[in-house]
Amino acid sequence: MRIVQKYGGTSVGSIEKIKNIADHIIKMKNEHNEIVVVVSAMGKMTDELIRKAKQITNNPNRRELDMLLSTGEQQTIALLTIALNHKGQPAISLTGSQAGIVTTGTHTKSKIKNINKERIEAHLKEGKIVIVAGFQGINENGDITTLGRGGSDTSAVALAAALNATCEIYTDVDGIYSVDPREYKEAKKLEEISYEEMMEMSNLGAGVMEVRAVELGKKYNIPIYVGKSLCQNNGTYIVEREQVMEQKLITGLSINENALMVNLLNLENEPKKIAYIFSVLGANDVNVDMISQSMSNGNKIDISFTCPLTEEDLLDKAIVLIKEHHPNIQISKKSDIIKVSVVGVGMISHSGVAAKIFDIFAENNISFYQITTSEISISFTIDKENKSKAVENIAKAFNL
Ligand code: ASP
Ligand code: MG
Repeated sequence: MRIVQKYGGTSVGSIEKIKNIADHIIKMKNEHNEIVVVVSAMGKMTDELIRKAKQITNNPNRRELDMLLSTGEQQTIALLTIALNHKGQPAISLTGSQAGIVTTGTHTKSKIKNINKERIEAHLKEGKIVIVAGFQGINENGDITTLGRGGSDTSAVALAAALNATCEIYTDVDGIYSVDPREYKEAKKLEEISYEEMMEMSNLGAGVMEVRAVELGKKYNIPIYVGKSLCQNNGTYIVEREQVMEQKLITGLSINENALMVNLLNLENEPKKIAYIFSVLGANDVNVDMISQSMSNGNKIDISFTCPLTEEDLLDKAIVLIKEHHPNIQISKKSDIIKVSVVGVGMISHSGVAAKIFDIFAENNISFYQITTSEISISFTIDKENKSKAVENIAKAFNL
């Protein structure tokens, strides 16, 4: 059997942990498995590297940031391989580029275009364990790129797809929970969750798995196991919807704190002008998420939207351009908000979820700004200070 395993930052957070993981991998290998391991940077290394760059400028060049951040994962692949070799296990480390991971798109959030797997295949044939740096690749210019925060998950699933392997994501939590247990102590662990639900939950901020990784899993139908490192079961399987045994109305609730609300006041209600604003945001790579609109006086309207707080630099650039064109628009930002979402494939066939949540908000005096829905989710932006009140009441109401 061929396995791609991924170990996240916490799992490889110290030399001691790296040595333990090496033992574990050797045990797996001895069960006649071909093993490719994808690793993240140790502990909070990526954050530290970003902090260093930001000591120089708040707006580091994104190509150079990729150059810097990619070094985090390179330390881990070398150390893990040194540990494996020291224990007598043939193994080799490969950077994203050496592993044939070709990317396209903007620096710091590139996408995997294809994987030239020949080199990995050759090393597997030699009996080696192949240790690949997650989160990175190489673009058409030959430059090192990274895949966006949490991107090692994507590296792992993409490699599993390319190599026709199963995929196991090892992390510091023992599976996927209906609600982040740090936010709601009584949250339940899920045995299975569908790709769609997991995508919504990642997208909406569940944090455990990176959304593009789940998207790839769905696309290539790769079941993804998520569990605690050094344990071999009891985690959560992310699988096709039809394979989920227990069907519930709501599977999970997720919280996204990476949200920034932007208010555009005093806009003329002219579709062309509004289209212009959103095209500038798009051209500057701002991921606009939720949008709401309200009438103000006369033919003026107010529009508000949310985007990731981490894209504030891109947003600011766009705002400068928008103001040049439309000096009368008032633009303000609000960052003390969060997005709360409930997710469940059960919503496709049952109604009344939104009504129930409106009731909960009314009973608890929680006001909300934007609302969006998809076939299987409903999301609200609320003030950060109402977080625990909202989470606990919704979780209880839906038995999460
Ligand atoms: N080291 C990168 C990050 O912290 C990638 C990852 O861990 O998946 O975002
Ligand atoms: Mg992660």
